[in-house]
Amino acid sequence: MEDYPRTLMEFETCFSTEESCRDYLFRLRWPDGFSCPRCSHEKAWPIGTTLFQCVKCGYRTSVIAGTIFQDTKKSLRLWFHAIWHVTSQKYGANALGLQRVLGLGSYHTAWTWLHKLRRAMVRPGRDRLSGTVDVDETYIGGEKPGKRGRGAAGKVLVVVAVEVKDSRIGRIRLRRVPDASAPSLEGAVKEAVEPGSIVRTDGWGGYARLSEMGYVHEVVRKEADIGRNLLPRVNRVVALLKRWLLGTYQGRISISHLDYYLDEFTFRFNRRTSRSRGKLFYRLVQQAAVVGPVPAKRIQQGTVNL
Ligand SMILES: [Zn+2]
Repeated sequence: MEDYPRTLMEFETCFSTEESCRDYLFRLRWPDGFSCPRCSHEKAWPIGTTLFQCVKCGYRTSVIAGTIFQDTKKSLRLWFHAIWHVTSQKYGANALGLQRVLGLGSYHTAWTWLHKLRRAMVRPGRDRLSGTVDVDETYIGGEKPGKRGRGAAGKVLVVVAVEVKDSRIGRIRLRRVPDASAPSLEGAVKEAVEPGSIVRTDGWGGYARLSEMGYVHEVVRKEADIGRNLLPRVNRVVALLKRWLLGTYQGRISISHLDYYLDEFTFRFNRRTSRSRGKLFYRLVQQAAVVGPVPAKRIQQGTVNL
C-alpha cells in the first residue's frame, strides 16, 4: 500500500478528521490486515479516537501505542499537519516555523515534535549501500582541519559514505564516530555498506583491514589527512550538509542531538529526487508508526555553535 496525498488539497481532504488519521495509521501498522495481539483474530472495531477492539476476544489495541505518537495530548490531525509541513519543506523545518504553521502555543512543543520526527527518519533495518562506495570522514563543529587519530576539542567526527553512480551521487549514510581508529571506522563501514561492495578511501591506516572484512578496498588517494582533502563526492555531500545545518538551524544545534540531524539530512538527501512530497509524507508517517516512543524527558535542550 502506497497511498498518499499528492498535493496540499488532497492532504486536507484525506485527513480532515481524527478518524481518517487513525484509520491511516491502522493501515500502516497492519499492512497485511489486522491481527489481534492476544488471539490473532483478524477483525477489530474502532473504539474512540485511537483504540481498536478485537471482535472476538474484546482485547483493545491502541493504534498509537509503541509509536512516536504515544501519550500525545494533541490530535493526530495536528501531528499529520506537522509531518506534512516537515516533509514539504525542501530544506526542512525549524521549530519556530513549525510553531507558527501549527499555531502551537509553545515553542518547546514544536521543538520536541521535530526531535521525535527526526527519530522516525531512519528506517529500522534499512538497506546498506552497495556497488561502489566512497568513504571519508569530516569534522563537524569547526573549520580548522585537525589531525587524525587525535580528538579535536568541540568537534565531532562523522564518517560519510557515498554511493557512486557514474558521475552522480547515489544514496548516502552518515555516522558519528568517537575517533578515526580502525575499530571505529570499520564499525561505521560495516553498518553502512553491503559486504562485497567496492569501498574507496584514502590511505589512512584505519581502513587497512577492509579487504579482510569482505570488501573490495581501493585506495584512491595516498594522503591520509582530514578536513581539506576529502574524496570529491564526499566533499560535495559535506558541503551540502554544512550549508543545510547553517541555513536551517542557523548553525546552532546541540552536538548531543547531532545524530538526529544527520538522520534528517540523510532522509532528505536520499529522497532529493523524489518528485512527490506526498511520498516523503507517507514514508515519515510509516516510519513514525514503527519507531518506538521517545519520552520528552530524554530530549534535552542545549545548543552549541557549529
Ligand atoms: Zn482477540
